[in-house]
Amino acid sequence: MEKQKISIVIPCYCEEEVIPLFYNTLINEVLPLLSEVTFEMIFIDDGSKDGTLKIIKNLSEKDSCIKYLSFSRNFGKEAAIYAGLNYATGDYVALMDVDLQDPPDLLIPMYEALTTEDYDCVATRRTTRQGEPSIRTFFAKIFYRLINKISQTEIVDGARDFRLMKRPMVEAILSVGEYNRFSKGIFEWVGFNTKWIAFENVERVAGKSKWSFWGLFLYSLEGIISFSTAPLAIASVTGFIFFVLSFLAIVVIIIREILWHGSAFGWPSLVCIIFFIGGIQLFCIGILGQYMARTYLETKKRPIYIVKEHN
Ligand code: UDP
Ligand code: MG
Repeated sequence: MEKQKISIVIPCYCEEEVIPLFYNTLINEVLPLLSEVTFEMIFIDDGSKDGTLKIIKNLSEKDSCIKYLSFSRNFGKEAAIYAGLNYATGDYVALMDVDLQDPPDLLIPMYEALTTEDYDCVATRRTTRQGEPSIRTFFAKIFYRLINKISQTEIVDGARDFRLMKRPMVEAILSVGEYNRFSKGIFEWVGFNTKWIAFENVERVAGKSKWSFWGLFLYSLEGIISFSTAPLAIASVTGFIFFVLSFLAIVVIIIREILWHGSAFGWPSLVCIIFFIGGIQLFCIGILGQYMARTYLETKKRPIYIVKEHN
């Protein structure tokens, strides 16, 4: 019988320091323990500005199981994941960060679970966020609580992109061809039986995280807008509340005028109310705009990524 193949998809953006460490760890410590399968590693150079592509190319000349794609510019990790899944040919596909924050030795129990138990996917989540700025942890907590309230798709707190999937699930993810991608949501949305493995947070071996606070904020908005339309309801609900309130206020003023006369006083309060309602209206229009902008980008049908070169 022919051996089954595991494809490992590895997005890389300016990671020249860590790629050799990652490769050596995998080759020396993990792959020998999985001798019943063959491997391919797919490195996606996401428009890096440093020597990332050169290092990957050098490795691929020495090792025939290495494939690489290089994007024409930085398209983001989500696009890199999509490209990698597209190029993967394995019966199983793993997604891994290159900075060794995803413990490579977990691949062994992950593969075991897929072959011996009835799962389509084994995913990982971290139980701690040690080593992360506490403000980031704080906002992450709020984000997960919020999105799980307003979205039907469950987004697991602490879930990593690190996972091993069987082919049918990979095909399902590829069939979700949207441009604004929030993979954590898409993985859940496609369904399938997922086993979760927990591990303690590991810090990056070298280099720096690519996520700024602002970047993460925009990414979380992406998640909310992609997987919930609840914010759109805010406009209608607040609109209705204000309608009821103003109706009551009108009744009160009319009665007051009839009973005591001279009821229409106080332009400062009027200005405050106009500003207040104006603000809420703008806020609601802004929410609408966010959804419209996403729709606009989707209708353009731009490619999710552009490959400059590959092997
Ligand atoms: N990455 C990418 N494109 C980007 C940003 C990041 O391919 O625009 C890759 C990066 O090289 C790494 C993974 O995504 O392999 C996770 O990035 P990082 O470690 O910066 O994120 P964090 O672990 O801090 O969430
Ligand atoms: Mg990292």
